[in-house]
Amino acid sequence: MAWDFETDPEFQEKLDWMKDFVREKVEPLGMLGIHPYDVKNPRRNALVRPLQQEVKDKGLWACHLGPELGGQGYGQVKLGLMNEILGGATFAPIVFGCQAPDTGNAEIIAHYGTPEQKERYLEPLLANEIVSAFSMTEPQGGSDPTNFVTRAELDGNHWKINGEKWFSTNGKWADFLIVMAVTDPEAQRHKRMSMFIVPVDTPGVEIVRNVGVYGQENGSESYVRYTDVRVPADHLLGEQGGAFAISQTRLGGGRVHHAMRTVGSCKRLLDMMSRRAVSRKTRTGTVADYQTVKMQIADSYIELEQFKLFVLKTAWMIDKYQDYLKVRKDIAAIKALMPKVYHDIAARCIHIHGSLGVSNEMPFVGNLIASMVMGIADGPTEVHKVTVAKQHLRDYKDVDDPMFPDYSLIHRREAARAMYDPMDELQEAVEAVE
Ligand SMILES: Cc1cc2nc3c(=O)[nH]c(=O)nc-3n(C[C@H](O)[C@H](O)[C@H](O)COP(=O)(O)OP(=O)(O)OC[C@H]3O[C@@H](n4cnc5c(N)ncnc54)[C@H](O)[C@@H]3O)c2cc1C
Repeated sequence: MAWDFETDPEFQEKLDWMKDFVREKVEPLGMLGIHPYDVKNPRRNALVRPLQQEVKDKGLWACHLGPELGGQGYGQVKLGLMNEILGGATFAPIVFGCQAPDTGNAEIIAHYGTPEQKERYLEPLLANEIVSAFSMTEPQGGSDPTNFVTRAELDGNHWKINGEKWFSTNGKWADFLIVMAVTDPEAQRHKRMSMFIVPVDTPGVEIVRNVGVYGQENGSESYVRYTDVRVPADHLLGEQGGAFAISQTRLGGGRVHHAMRTVGSCKRLLDMMSRRAVSRKTRTGTVADYQTVKMQIADSYIELEQFKLFVLKTAWMIDKYQDYLKVRKDIAAIKALMPKVYHDIAARCIHIHGSLGVSNEMPFVGNLIASMVMGIADGPTEVHKVTVAKQHLRDYKDVDDPMFPDYSLIHRREAARAMYDPMDELQEAVEAVE
């Protein structure tokens, strides 16, 4: 019997250290107007590098990775508990070496890359000497990758890439982009595309503009145009035609990590909502005395606890099976649940703060937008719900009688009688003899 909701005391000590460290040293970095991914900014580096060193000294650097790649190999459950502390603090993932989209990019290079690709791109990425971007979505549509048209053609010993990509997060800070492009247009739908590592300074890579999510001052969602971009043949990542499988590896982990950090963001919102409720004075007490406010606090707590347990259970399953595909249904489910829980808690937090809540002196409207981002980035909620339903329905067969299915009371009574009536009759016969 192994259901256990307790954290080992030794790991709890690490979590306690993390909580204080993030609150005291890391959170203030988010107030200075510098960007966590701006790795070429000396001021950013002067502030971030010593903190990263402290994290390394504590054995908490890059915990999403196994020891062979310089991580701790803690697994997803511990990572979930850690990410709960990191979520919502802008600089925290970078200080702990587990920031998206670099985590996912590192994961696929580690998994599919050649030794040369690992040396040239993975090692500096893991050390946060460089950052990276994932260039998959196209301006004409992102939810259905089979619609992508960016093309890569073999030209001598180079691949030549042409096309446009949209919302390649951090393209403007990145040293390289991982680009998904059509290599085999005639192949079966899921074998048409391949992944490439494209250094951002390759001629023909043009950042058309850096789009901002609403409310962001400096956007870093890059709209990238690739015009006759030539990369050596060995910049193909994984197999030709293997982009779908690779992106599933990448996005599986990424979605879970987003969910883990979202637990942290929601927890912060609930804390702030609760502090406001117990301190905002009314004629007779505080707003926390109103039942309607209590309902909002209770709903937020209940939804957050459910979500957190679901995320941790999914993390546990990933640790158990070591295969994202086997946990596909639950990964899709927490991805679909995440924007709703986050949105509802952020909206209540705004509401309980009144005018201050909607003001630009509070972060909550940003949280509301972030909750909507969680429903779009890495695929919209609808697509994930369809995955949940498809995976769930796989375990079901159709019934023999669709009008009065076998679970109707009529059939069940009949079946029960067929089973027990003869026994009753037998019993009566025995009693009669006695
Ligand atoms: C902040 C942010 C960061 C991102 N970062 C990256 C990145 O780094 N790299 C990258 O490649 N992409 C990135 N994306 C893009 C993201 O993956 C796409 O936005 C997403 O896949 C949806 O594609 P779309 O925006 O083109 O919307 P569309 O595909 O146009 O979909 C719009 C809406 O149509 C509906 N819809 C679409 N398909 C279905 C369906 N099958 N069933 C039911 N309804 C459907 C949904 O309501 C959906 O929200 C990012 C997006 C955001 C918001």
